[in-house]
Amino acid sequence: MSVSAQQLSLIVQVDQLLPQTQCGLCGHRDGCLPYAKSIVEGEDANKCVPGGQPVADALATLLKRPTMIAEPSVWDIQADGRPQQMKAIIREDECIGCTKCISACPVDAIIGSGKLMHSILTDLCTGCELCIPPCPVDCIDLVADSNPLPTAQQRTLEQDDLRHRYYAHIQREEKRRLSRKGPIVRAEIDTEFFAQFSQALNNVPVITLMDKPKENPVLDAKTTIELAKIRTQIKKLEKQLSVRADESKQTQLLDLQKRLNELQGI
Ligand code: SF4
Ligand code: SF4
Ligand code: SF4
Repeated sequence: MSVSAQQLSLIVQVDQLLPQTQCGLCGHRDGCLPYAKSIVEGEDANKCVPGGQPVADALATLLKRPTMIAEPSVWDIQADGRPQQMKAIIREDECIGCTKCISACPVDAIIGSGKLMHSILTDLCTGCELCIPPCPVDCIDLVADSNPLPTAQQRTLEQDDLRHRYYAHIQREEKRRLSRKGPIVRAEIDTEFFAQFSQALNNVPVITLMDKPKENPVLDAKTTIELAKIRTQIKKLEKQLSVRADESKQTQLLDLQKRLNELQGI
């Protein structure tokens, strides 16, 4: 990530104004942070659909740019000028427990395990809709959020929590990517970008990139026989050396261990 300290600080400020819904409706598949970076690099700041006009205006003020009309939403506008906040609900009697929605939810608002019914923790759901397309039986509905509108302070706390949950989600998906347990709907996320950024911020979990475990080399028959012989010799020497020290046998043992490692590609 080649951004200067000044740019980084501005990206963080822009990201703080974005709703952290991580829906990708701004055209940035991986959510708010990539859009924040792109805005700082010059992209128009009116594309956050769930943020609506208040977010477009706040960004214009922060960046000292002319105000722009916000990208329209399909939902009606609430009293605070933002589009209607939605919540997802699973029709639980139709859910087949495939777990695809869990992987798709950027804020880990869905609970359940394989072949069991799933539920959405409605307090955490941002209505991003990302769980809807992967559901093979189309059993997720969207309903209008009936909670009172948050105060500015509540909104900031909520956004901080969602950002935190998103970084934790990315780290979990990174681990799942390697173990390949269950469907990985958002496997294409640019984890490296978030990992680099997480090290520069102090209010999100640090994301660690996982290395692929070394694959065992496929050994030919000759090498397999040689390895077996070396292991037997090593065992024999270790037994002898445990009874009486012997310099030449010790050297022989070290040579054999070295050869064993070479053959195993360690
Ligand atoms: S909440 Fe706004 S900025 Fe964040 S991903 Fe959705 S549209 Fe983009
Ligand atoms: S439950 Fe669905 S709509 Fe709600 S935050 Fe998760 S993915 Fe988005
Ligand atoms: S994707 Fe649909 S069917 Fe699969 S667990 Fe989620 S709600 Fe149930």
